[in-house]
Amino acid sequence: MTETASKPEPAIHFEPDDQVERLKAEITKKLTYSLGKNASVAQPHDWLTAGILAARDHIVDVWQRSTRESYQTGRKRVYYLSLEFLIGRSLADALNNLGLTGAMAQAMSELGVDLAAIETIEPDAALGNGGLGRLAACYMEAMASTGVPALGYGIRYDHGLFKQRIDGGKQIEVPEDWLSFRNPWEFERRESSYKIGFGGSVTGTAKPGEVFWEPEETVFAVAYDTAIIGWRGRDATTLRLWRARAMHPLSLDAFNQGDLVGAVAERNRAEAISKVLYPNDSTPAGQELRLRQEFFFTSASLQDLVRRHYRQFGKLDNLPDKAAIQLNDTHPALAVAELMRLLIDQHGLSWEDAWTITNGTISYTNHTLLPEALETWPVALMERLLPRHMQIIFGINARFLDAVRRSAGGENVDLSSISLIDEYHGRRVRMAHLAFVGSHTVNGVSALHSNLMKETVFAPLHRIFPERITNVTNGITPRRWLLSANPGLTSALQDVCGEGVTDDIEQIRKLAQHARDPALHERLASIRHDNKLKLAKIIRQDTGVVVDPTAMFDVQIKRIHEYKRQLLNILETIALYDAIRSEPYRDWAPRVKIFAGKAASNYGTAKAIINLINDVAVVVNNDITTRDRLKVIFLPNYNVSAAEVIIPAADLSEQISTAGMEASGTGNMKFALNGALTIGTLDGANIEIGERVGADNIMIFGMTAAEVEAARLAPRPTSEIIAATPHLEGVLDAVADGAYSPRERDRYRGLVEGLRVSDWFMVLNDFESYRQAQRRVDALWADQPTWWTKSITNTAHCGWFSADRAIREYAQRIWHVPAGYAAKS
Ligand SMILES: *Cc1c(COP(=O)(O)O)cnc(C)c1O
Repeated sequence: MTETASKPEPAIHFEPDDQVERLKAEITKKLTYSLGKNASVAQPHDWLTAGILAARDHIVDVWQRSTRESYQTGRKRVYYLSLEFLIGRSLADALNNLGLTGAMAQAMSELGVDLAAIETIEPDAALGNGGLGRLAACYMEAMASTGVPALGYGIRYDHGLFKQRIDGGKQIEVPEDWLSFRNPWEFERRESSYKIGFGGSVTGTAKPGEVFWEPEETVFAVAYDTAIIGWRGRDATTLRLWRARAMHPLSLDAFNQGDLVGAVAERNRAEAISKVLYPNDSTPAGQELRLRQEFFFTSASLQDLVRRHYRQFGKLDNLPDKAAIQLNDTHPALAVAELMRLLIDQHGLSWEDAWTITNGTISYTNHTLLPEALETWPVALMERLLPRHMQIIFGINARFLDAVRRSAGGENVDLSSISLIDEYHGRRVRMAHLAFVGSHTVNGVSALHSNLMKETVFAPLHRIFPERITNVTNGITPRRWLLSANPGLTSALQDVCGEGVTDDIEQIRKLAQHARDPALHERLASIRHDNKLKLAKIIRQDTGVVVDPTAMFDVQIKRIHEYKRQLLNILETIALYDAIRSEPYRDWAPRVKIFAGKAASNYGTAKAIINLINDVAVVVNNDITTRDRLKVIFLPNYNVSAAEVIIPAADLSEQISTAGMEASGTGNMKFALNGALTIGTLDGANIEIGERVGADNIMIFGMTAAEVEAARLAPRPTSEIIAATPHLEGVLDAVADGAYSPRERDRYRGLVEGLRVSDWFMVLNDFESYRQAQRRVDALWADQPTWWTKSITNTAHCGWFSADRAIREYAQRIWHVPAGYAAKS
């Protein structure tokens, strides 16, 4: 089945007036019969739930049709395994995709309810840390929008990523509780439960079908399904999240003996698995509970998909023709061993046949090359927790190393570098090696990243499998990040590029012909101004600071990490502050520096950087000499909903990671599509943004990845760098001596000392280049027609970063499934 339709009718179609009346009736019915309330006593939350349930009915119709169709036609399906899905809110996005935004607003309004207001009380589903989790969410929506039949598998955490408060300038973590009002989007599937075993022993012969793993402990995985609706309501994908339940929730024996704690001990231990998301970003969690989470969701997902397949086809040798399993990073890498186990131990296949099927079905996306971020697990832990899987991993490794040794040139291969077991750090399983060897295709997430994979971490494996690594540059869904988040810009785009731009975002390139049109500049400036007013209101509410919406909004929002270099940004901000104070009468480009992001709770340096930004903000924002020319804002609790408000209000996008360290970035794409200009390094997808918008329309600075590598091999003394860099010494001294922390003068001594010891992240090395790039930004801001010409050029050339394009690449080159809906051209 190819290109079923390039422009099908929306699946659900009523006359507009009819639609409002029907929605009103549906909402009222939900309120009455599902919530047991009547309109006069309903609270905002009841209206929200009723609205969601009404919208969900519309989605279910589409969902059941597309699930039925994909079963009847026996189409190949994608199974996207991810420990994280950073979804955010769903109502506005679902209504937008269903074409019901206007009708729902009207229906609610006639019932006396402000839809926009109740949308903001929907909790963010924050089942992810950052880019990796958000990518999974964008891809679920893009698969629904491009007609790729798909199931996403993950964990239904009781508590998602912590909420961040800022207290006295410091990050405070508060538990997140998105399920406290229940989750009206999901369907619990008690009937879809699987047993997940841990520990115990392995007995029997080594023959297929005669190996018995007797786990010491078993928990249930219970499925919760949510439908993700695609653009124009044509199709829906399924997000299936697993919740851990105890086999025996209560021990009556213990209870009867008065041991209340013991009575629920098994239950607590089992349910701990899906209790809380690990709040780490770019560093592996390392604890046993994390490994239990990884196996729990991987095993449940594979049992589920193998069972479905077997029920439908009655055999397993055609699994690679009917299923594509995508591993989002190494968190689900145990899928390689678990699929082997199911095929051999439960279905009696030979090792060789099982391996052919496994390798033909699985593919893996790598997200990081940072050596400290690559997952490894101690062999001893794995043997204790997953004895059968450890045997299988040893089996895979032995056969693999043996085949390499016996191949042409194999005697020259350093086997220790390709082994699935790292023998040097106390014997550990290398999860990236396991995923690589077990997959038919391995992809990086930007052109630079995929090349670096071949040259660094995976170089030895790449020599053995030179065809295995490929690139699919990340993408973002334009529905959430443009159509929903920036309706003003969207309607301007529809006027200039035609209505079709919402169906095929790449038509946005028609905008380029109008890049110099003063009338368009004026219209876009007015849209941006409105977006900035909205953000300014939130800034005032959350921080008490009043900002001027005519100033440049200069934004860095992302997880706080040394490699993302918020420290570089705030140090340069201090230099700018000093410069403004020493020449207060110059016509400085007025700026609002906006930061937001969470630090992992155990990442001390990242927390110190948050503290520094907040301390600098206090000093700068209270200084009357700088007034409206410089403000520094740290917006607490960055999440998807915050991003949706901040990005459409940004003039300048800070993408300043140390070159070679940001695999792709997706924040960069969201900003550029919304018309912010990028100041950034030649890293990740910034490079590809630059290639598309043109070197004149992006402010690139700093060392290249190759220069960073060289500088690390032969580091220049930091004292020399500091001495050669104007302004830097003064800035560092001021921070170190407590100019921004007068009540605790030593607060940042360690942070600055760290920079003086080693400039691993090139903060000192790149400082001057960054500062000069910022002054070029100032000059450009003074020339607004040129600024807007560049802004339009950015929007016009960033349609390619749509998740639809990325999904089509995966579908064609990796999964070998046809996308139902082709892009119009
Ligand atoms: C897009 C997004 C990210 C990723 O941002 P980067 O700048 O690529 O690190 C992280 N968190 C949220 C909430 C996002 O929307």
